[in-house]
Amino acid sequence: MRVTLGWARCADNVADILRRGAWYPIVEESVDGHVVVEVRQQRVRLPRRDVTIRTEVPDHWSIVARTGVLRPTLGAGRGSDVVTTYAVCPLCHYRQDVAGKPDSVKCVRCGASSPVDWSETC
Ligand SMILES: [Zn+2]
Repeated sequence: MRVTLGWARCADNVADILRRGAWYPIVEESVDGHVVVEVRQQRVRLPRRDVTIRTEVPDHWSIVARTGVLRPTLGAGRGSDVVTTYAVCPLCHYRQDVAGKPDSVKCVRCGASSPVDWSETC
């Protein structure tokens, strides 16, 4: 079993390096306030304040909110801001759209069924 210091999930400003909503294993923690996470076999060093850290194995889908403006279409209001959400698989980081608010979702890529963490969105 691999030794992991925990898992980190990125904040918005580093979302171009890490996938939003996905947890990455922390392989190193430095005293100067950085953590090193493993992303696709590469080590990425990030300021601790930019990530959310947890110590238990992630086993819930993360919910990511995406904001956008809907073009006015029939029956869809008048171009108001809409928030759509997608879920990120805790095991393989696959992004999947979710309809409604299911308690658990089965990943179409890895086939695992995991509960959804609706308590927070990122
Ligand atoms: Zn998956």
